[in-house]
Amino acid sequence: FRNRKLIVQIIPFENRRQILVTHDATETERIEMMRRDFIANASHELRTPLTVIVGFLEIAGTELDLDAPTRAAHVKLMTEQAHRMQHLIEDMLTLSRLESVDYPLRPERVDIEKLMEQVLRDARALSAGKHTITLAVSGPDVLGGFEELHSAFGNLASNAVRYTPAGGSIHLLWQDGAGGPQFIVQDTGIGISPEHISRLTERFYRVDKSRSRETQGTGLGLAIVKHVLLRHGGTLTIKSEAGKGSSFIVNLPKSVTTPVGGELLPQ
Ligand code: ADP
Repeated sequence: FRNRKLIVQIIPFENRRQILVTHDATETERIEMMRRDFIANASHELRTPLTVIVGFLEIAGTELDLDAPTRAAHVKLMTEQAHRMQHLIEDMLTLSRLESVDYPLRPERVDIEKLMEQVLRDARALSAGKHTITLAVSGPDVLGGFEELHSAFGNLASNAVRYTPAGGSIHLLWQDGAGGPQFIVQDTGIGISPEHISRLTERFYRVDKSRSRETQGTGLGLAIVKHVLLRHGGTLTIKSEAGKGSSFIVNLPKSVTTPVGGELLPQ
């Protein structure tokens, strides 16, 4: 029973006898701890940009003779921080919807060609010409949630852009693997040391907080990816080497495959 939290109750039973009831509360305790951590982290993440906004608003209220360029610079900084809060709240709402039983996945036929084109377009827009980004699509369409898969694949592609220095390359690949369809994002970016890999899908876990923030990261992207994949019966494998680059490999089960041009028939 080492490292477990047991609740023990002794209940009197008939004359002089007692019943010993034990309840293993380790899991409940772990979930409760995760919930507390999440609230603490989320509050901290929201408080930081809000402090900046409040600071500039106070200046605006007291220093009434600020020149126009200074005022414009303050408004720009406040707008950036407000957008940061907006992204964070959107990601938190997405995560809570993905976990909610009131929001079950309603599988529909996902046009992979269209989905991949959108992921490519968004990644290129984010990169603004600083990277070489290529796409190869050879796998089948699938049954699933278009918007959910779009957000999962889009997060992986945008991470590749955000963690790859200018001049690097990113390859997006959709293919039919032996176990089912696969989406792979390969980058030649900063990479990740092995000790971090297993923790990356935890909410707010970041290898380098400042780099994540500088590039508009909320720290929730890979947690969203994990939950979307859970709902689709898929898995995420991360292969990486610090300084060399990373591959994020999504494996979806064969059962999500639909025959090309055919009806919605899970295999
Ligand atoms: P963030 O908003 O911080 O990017 P994510 O949940 O998307 O949050 O990713 C968690 C962390 O994983 C990032 O902060 C970063 O340290 C690491 N990471 C994710 N993708 C990559 C990548 N392609 N290359 C290097 N590190 C990455």
